[in-house]
Amino acid sequence: AEDHRLRRIASSIRVIPEFPKPGILFQDITTLLLDPEAFRDTIDMFVERYRDKEISVVAGIEARGFIFGPPIALAIGAKFVPMRKPKKLPGEVISEEYSLEYGTDKMEMHVGAVEAGDRALVIDDLIATGGTLAAAMRLLGGFSSTDRVGAEVVECACVIELPELKGRDKLGGRPLFVLVKAV
Ligand code: AMP
Repeated sequence: AEDHRLRRIASSIRVIPEFPKPGILFQDITTLLLDPEAFRDTIDMFVERYRDKEISVVAGIEARGFIFGPPIALAIGAKFVPMRKPKKLPGEVISEEYSLEYGTDKMEMHVGAVEAGDRALVIDDLIATGGTLAAAMRLLGGFSSTDRVGAEVVECACVIELPELKGRDKLGGRPLFVLVKAV
């Protein structure tokens, strides 16, 4: 049953070459969202893994972590916290810079949304180089309990991993759970 669900999820993801620029194989999860059975299976598989892990916060990364995070948070009874691009959140924020292929970007989170002792699940659609998830972990305090807000990152989760880019190695040994590995 597990394999059947994973196969349906994998085959519902559309791959678009050369987007948004030459050389990138874009993994498009909008086609997964068009298949209610695949979308439900995706959420169910995360919920089955996390419902008994005493997760108190699901931190979703803008933008596609906002699609998968909230249904998981509701199902496991955790709060949902958006990790946003700069200048989107209206309240006081803490922020973390991270490097992209060209240049840098920033991620922001509301002060007070996550507290010391919170047990966090970080969710995004895809891990490539791991820079985005690592920035989220630094914001939450996932690399050391004396870091930033002092939450514990229990695990990071993505629908898709591009294993060749070794993004996993940027997570400081914290566990990463993925449903689909792509090239
Ligand atoms: P990274 O920080 O390199 O792990 O990149 C991960 C972020 O970039 C995620 O938020 C993804 O949505 C996006 N991303 C990177 N590469 C791809 C790709 N090949 N297809 C779709 N999204 C991607």
